[in-house]
Order: sequence, then structure tokens, then C-alpha cells
Amino acid sequence: MVYYDSPGQAKAHADQALVRMTELGLSPNPNNFTVWFNYVAGRDPELNAVIDNAIAAGQTIDDLRCYNIYQQFFGQDDGDKLFTTSAHIEAAVDRILDHVKQVNHSTHGYSEAISGFSDQLQEERSAEDVHRIVSSIVEETRRMGERTKELEEKLQESSEEVAELKANLEEVQNEAMTDMLTGIANRRRFDQELQDRTADAIEDETPLSLLLLDIDHFKRFNDDFGHLMGDQVLKLIAQSLMQSVKGRDLPARFGGEEFAIILPETQIEAACIVANQIRMLISRRNIVKKSTGEILCKVSVSIGVGEYRRGEPLDSLIRRADGALYAAKEAGRNRVMSEVREAATAQVAG
Ligand code: GH3
Ligand code: MG
Ligand code: MG
Repeated sequence: MVYYDSPGQAKAHADQALVRMTELGLSPNPNNFTVWFNYVAGRDPELNAVIDNAIAAGQTIDDLRCYNIYQQFFGQDDGDKLFTTSAHIEAAVDRILDHVKQVNHSTHGYSEAISGFSDQLQEERSAEDVHRIVSSIVEETRRMGERTKELEEKLQESSEEVAELKANLEEVQNEAMTDMLTGIANRRRFDQELQDRTADAIEDETPLSLLLLDIDHFKRFNDDFGHLMGDQVLKLIAQSLMQSVKGRDLPARFGGEEFAIILPETQIEAACIVANQIRMLISRRNIVKKSTGEILCKVSVSIGVGEYRRGEPLDSLIRRADGALYAAKEAGRNRVMSEVREAATAQVAG
């Protein structure tokens, strides 16, 4: 980003930004500074609207919130990173093609030179002539060897570069599919995976179930213990989900405090058993404040379970699992409900 402020203006904005950051108890780190410098300078009305609305709604503007705002307005997004990496790969491939062309060119030149010498040798020649021609062949071959070695080195360098870029690309792709807070799959990956796994289910004629999980009274938890502690709970739940599944099962963060798990090759009855194991595991865990070791409370989750009906649109499956989740909330929370035989599969806290 280019700043056109005069030194005097920039100093005034910087001072104001620091005053606002101090008032809010924010760390004077570069991300916070960028957000507040731009805010007081009024450079982006959208940025100012986000901050003003949050303040008007009485929301807490802490380091984490500022970091999210920073990412939203100033972070390099996945698209940019992907674009930069792809441009580098394209340039490296162009270089390789160029080297290959040079190799072709130099091989062609060499074979022409050799066939010229061979024509000369067909004619009757004196011993000196033959000696001269053979020396030329040796010299031409030596030069060809040198050129080939040079090109080989260039090719080696370029292919190392391509390998490195390929690893970068994989990293960027992984990041784009991962939820930054919890480290598990994000909604984008979930959507893609649900499409792929239901396609497998149709092809292999196997069942597939979906769990939708929502934390009970999470708003109250945030109000009582703060948003940062709330984020720790989201991480703990993500860990519990990862611990509870195996193979191709995919836990994902579905939205704010909602998670989903895709269970391929699983009928609804087995899916309800898994859901209950997860529910019990989470309800037994104490939420501990890391800094003091103090036990704050326990949290519970409600889970809705649906089974895929071959060929149906995916949002129907999600809607059914969501309906079961809603029924679990209505029935008192901390329980599992499935789309079918809701009453029969209801499990009360245990
Ligand atoms: P219910 O048992 O009906 O689900 O009640 P609830 O309070 O969990 O439901 P509600 O939908 O009213 O509130 C969801 C809360 O989840 C509100 C919001 O602050 C919190 N939340 C959503 N995303 C995040 C997040 O990323 N971090 C934290 N700490 N809280 C979040
Ligand atoms: Mg919710
Ligand atoms: Mg909730």
C-alpha cells in the first residue's frame, strides 16, 4: 500500500492511532498500528464502518478482533498468494522450455557439423587433411560437451525451482482449505469433500452419514468467560472431533460455533453411536484457564445426524441433519438426534 501523506500528516495520524490503541488497551504491534493508522486517516470508509459498527454494538475491540480486521483489509488473501505462486511456476516453466530449445538447437548444429565432416571424409584426402578433419571433429565434440553440461546445470536449477514452487503451491492450497483458528478443515473443504464422498457413495453403493454439531449456550460462555476463552473451547472441540474419527471421516468447522463430520461408509445407526461418543467425550472435559489452571466449567454439544439419500441435492441432506440438530436443542440440548426415529435415538446426557 502506498501512503501519500506528508511527514507532518503521517506523524499526526501515527500519534492519533497510538492514542486510540492505548485507550482500547491494544498491543502496539504492526498489525494493530496498520488498522488504526488507516482508521484515523479515514482512508477506507469500509474499514471505518466495520470498526464504528463494532464499537456502536458494544463489541470488544481486542488484539484478536484487530487481527481479524487486519486480515480482512490488509492481509494477502489466498487468491493473491495463489496468483503469485502460479506466476512464478509459469516463469520457471518458460525458462525450462527455453533451455530445451537451446539443447535442440545446439544438438542440431552439432549433427550438421559432423555430417559436413563426414562428407569431406568421403572424398579422397591427404593424411594431413584427415588429421585436420578429425581434430575439428574432436574440437566440435568438446564444445558440444561443454554446452550440454552448461544446459544440464541450468535445467537442474530450474527443476529444483519448480519442485520448490510445487511445495509452495501445495502449502497455499492446504491453507485455503484449513480453518485458521482450529486447524481442521474449513467450510470450503467440507463442501468439496461432501461432493466427492457422496459421489463415491453413489458409485460404490455405500451409505454415508453426516453429523452437524452445535455448542450449547455458547453465547453465555463467551459472555461469562470472554471471546478468547471461547476460541479455546472451539479448538478443544476440534481436537476432540479429530480424536474421535478415523480413516476417511472428515471433521470440519461448518460455521462460527458449528462443526460437521462426514462419515463415509456409515449408516445412520453407526453414525449415532459415533455422535454419542463425541458428545460424551466433550461433556466430560473440564474447560481450564491455561494461565491459572483454574477449572471454569464444562461445555456440552447437541448433534443432529442425517443419512444421504442417493442422488438427493446436498443441501437436502444438510437441512435434514440441521433439522435433527434443532430437535436436539428443543429437547433440552446435550443430546444426539437423528433425522429418522428421532425419539428412539435420542440420548439424554449421561
Ligand atoms: P444454543 O445452545 O441454542 O446453540 O445457544 P448458543 O448461545 O450457542 O447459540 P447462539 O446462536 O445464540 O450463539 C452462538 C454464539 O457463538 C454467538 C457467538 O458469539 C459465538 N461464536 C460464533 N463464532 C465464534 C468464534 O469464532 N469464537 C467465539 N469465541 N465465539 C463464537
Ligand atoms: Mg449455532
Ligand atoms: Mg450454539
